[in-house]
Amino acid sequence: MEQIKFKGIVLKSIDYKEKDKLLTIFSLELGKLTAVLKGVRQEKAKLKFAAMPFCFAEFVATNVNGYYTITECYQIESFYDIFSNYKKSVAGFLFLEISCIIMQKSPDESWFLTLLNFLKELEFSKTDEKILEIKFLLTTLKKIGYALSFDYCTECGLKFMGDVHLNLETGELECSTCANINSVKLTKQQFSVLKIIDLSSLNKLESIKQKEDVLNEIKQVLVKNLNLRLGVMLKSVY
Ligand SMILES: [Zn+2]
Repeated sequence: MEQIKFKGIVLKSIDYKEKDKLLTIFSLELGKLTAVLKGVRQEKAKLKFAAMPFCFAEFVATNVNGYYTITECYQIESFYDIFSNYKKSVAGFLFLEISCIIMQKSPDESWFLTLLNFLKELEFSKTDEKILEIKFLLTTLKKIGYALSFDYCTECGLKFMGDVHLNLETGELECSTCANINSVKLTKQQFSVLKIIDLSSLNKLESIKQKEDVLNEIKQVLVKNLNLRLGVMLKSVY
């Protein structure tokens, strides 16, 4: 029986058998993995904290033919504020769900740090949660090869002058001339807010203030786009 140690963030936790939980963990060293946490639903279970989504910890597990069983867990950060605050949890669960979809059984240090930095920002900063969601959606689009180009129409290559549309078939921003029935028109305000969020680094988003309905509309368009790019229906969308 092989024993391994890894740092990871709990993405998902579901009931398993009578007293166990099945965890989906995004680990720094091994990528996404599934591990059993035995007896954790018993009243006095020691490792209850390890079964909480967002838990960032060092895990020790046994590995029998690729089946991991957690034996020890040392918490680094619980991100409990995210879990206990409605708006923060909406954003946080979206980060976890997307990471669960795009990560595989191979390590991805850069995305691990991305997720960790977004969770820290969500937990500790005063940045609007909706703005963090939009930034995370934009970052995900970049990651999967569908970065939005904010200066030039992707179709004809001309600089944006008038209205800008998001083509949901190709996932690209384009001008009015190139737009077709698959394109959604962005208002001037939506486009400029989206561009500012894209240009700002994560720790500079705190200074951006915007009305909630504008941010919601932007989020909905990006979610629709991401759903089509990934071929999924994101569940954590409110
Ligand atoms: Zn064009």
